Amino acid sequence: MSETHIKLQESHVNEINRHIASQPGQEVCGLVGGIWQNNDRVAVARAVVPIKNVDANPTLRYTMSPKEQVTAILDFEKHGWEVVAIYHSHPGEPARPSPTDIAEASFPDAVYLIGIPGGDLQGWRINKGKTQPVQVEIITKEENF
Ligand SMILES: [Zn+2]
Repeated sequence: MSETHIKLQESHVNEINRHIASQPGQEVCGLVGGIWQNNDRVAVARAVVPIKNVDANPTLRYTMSPKEQVTAILDFEKHGWEVVAIYHSHPGEPARPSPTDIAEASFPDAVYLIGIPGGDLQGWRINKGKTQPVQVEIITKEENF
């Protein structure tokens, strides 16, 4: 099994955590644009884009605004990036994929980042009903990125 790993800058993590903290009772979501390195095993994040959760029941699930998703992906493409990760929050559940997340995962190649209010961010791969943890590496800006 391939070992996937994602590198995020500290500012990216802060941005995701701020988004989660801004709506602690709801699931928030967004896309992470970046590039893949090391034979597509290492995702390197370049930008975080919050996307509106348009689900009818946002306390329990998320549906990314299709319009905002398209805008973000087109912007990533301009930079030569792709969607390396999708993030969302779990207001009242642990930071691991829920049965809904597993059933509805539609990006088998991307990393699913799941955060909880005031908590850490965990990475997962979700593919064909199976989940696998993904190491999340946080890069501070002093390091060469
Ligand atoms: Zn979830």
